Amino acid sequence: MHELSMCESIFEIVDRTAAGRTVTAIHLQVGQLRQVVPDTLTYCWTVVSDQTTLAGSQLVVDTVPVTLRCRDCSSTTTLTDELLLLCTQCDGADVSVTTGEELVLTSLELAEA
Ligand SMILES: [Zn+2]
Repeated sequence: MHELSMCESIFEIVDRTAAGRTVTAIHLQVGQLRQVVPDTLTYCWTVVSDQTTLAGSQLVVDTVPVTLRCRDCSSTTTLTDELLLLCTQCDGADVSVTTGEELVLTSLELAEA
């Protein structure tokens, strides 16, 4: 379960960034290729942040779909079902991943002082 270690890393960053201010929500972009289960991630966040200054803050996970660029037919396609890295236009395997590998902390929401 790598969600737990991810949350520990997120915690360190958020804790440092917040610098004692009250955080209400943390927005995170997670690419589908990260194989993260959003519900597990938010659950782990409550475990990691419990009894800390970040307790009660909400982790908001925005999943980024996988898009591929095909070198054979030059199309850009979005993967919908299985994580088979094949072009959905021509089934070509000579593709590059355009999005889907993100793990980005996009924003923090702070409580009014
Ligand atoms: Zn193609």
